[in-house]
Amino acid sequence: RAKARGGNRFEMADPELDQRAITRHGLTTALPAALERGEFFIEYQPLVHMGDGRVHGAEALVRWSHPQHGILGPDQFIPLAEHTGLIVPLGRWVLQEAVRQACDWQQHRTEGAPLRINVNLSPAQLQHPGLVKDTVAVLERAGLEPGALCLEVTESALIGADEGLLKPLRQLAELGVDIALDDFGTGYSNLANLRRLPVSVLKLDRSFTKGMQQAPVDPVDLKIVEGIVSLAHSLELAVTVEGVETGVQADQLRELGCDTAQGWYYARPGPPDQLHALSLADAI
Ligand code: C2E
Ligand code: MG
Ligand code: MG
Ligand code: MG
Repeated sequence: RAKARGGNRFEMADPELDQRAITRHGLTTALPAALERGEFFIEYQPLVHMGDGRVHGAEALVRWSHPQHGILGPDQFIPLAEHTGLIVPLGRWVLQEAVRQACDWQQHRTEGAPLRINVNLSPAQLQHPGLVKDTVAVLERAGLEPGALCLEVTESALIGADEGLLKPLRQLAELGVDIALDDFGTGYSNLANLRRLPVSVLKLDRSFTKGMQQAPVDPVDLKIVEGIVSLAHSLELAVTVEGVETGVQADQLRELGCDTAQGWYYARPGPPDQLHALSLADAI
């Protein structure tokens, strides 16, 4: 159709693409007001000890309750927030809210180790000079010990990171905050590089465990995961697996020595009450 109208090179050929661009633009401009109006909320997905099935914490996953579009997932707006810089105040809000929630769980928990809270950090937050100060302030205000917080940074955000980028993470790690390398295995990072990163947890990406959902499990997949787990453990890193959807996967991954797991097999992300209830159960 573009051609028939004289071949204007700038006419969009794909109306859907056009619509997506409009939507993207609309969402981007709506972000700051959405934060002020309190349209964001957090779901919590349990992290489970593979050994005994007990809940040991949760990952905070942000959602946007958009007045017209309904509930939007982070993949639909985090990249936009990163692009405009809104990720800094949004990320600060997520941290504050998740830490407050973790304190709330702790106050209602009379036995067992304190529940831990995992919060995702985007590359723009890493580069923001206030990261360490803000994080310490949030922990102090809420009264949460730094050891109960784990910040997740994707492997791709740290590839080729120079000392300047690693310094705030190093400072946080020295304060006792755990740093996890998220989506590990998708970023083609140099394994030897792991040694120089201030991380204590490796989160193995879902793509590695997809092939283990049903028996028979691909022996090559098993070998790869086995290798990563043994490398991680030799570097004194704990291994968390994401996206565990079946019992077959859970059994295999436990046998391979993974420490903690997260996935629909155990629980979907849900409201804070779900986590509280599951943490009181013996095991899930
Ligand atoms: P992620 O940190 O790797 O989080 C895990 C994602 O896998 C979540 O998607 C979760 O809902 C999904 N998931 C969990 N278990 C399963 C499973 O068994 N099967 C499958 N197929 N998926 C599973 P979600 O909530 O859509 O989040 C997507 C990504 O958005 C996150 O990936 C994270 O990188 C980012 N994100 C979420 N919340 C925040 C935030 O507060 N700040 C920043 N900067 N990024 C965030
Ligand atoms: Mg994560
Ligand atoms: Mg992940
Ligand atoms: Mg992931």
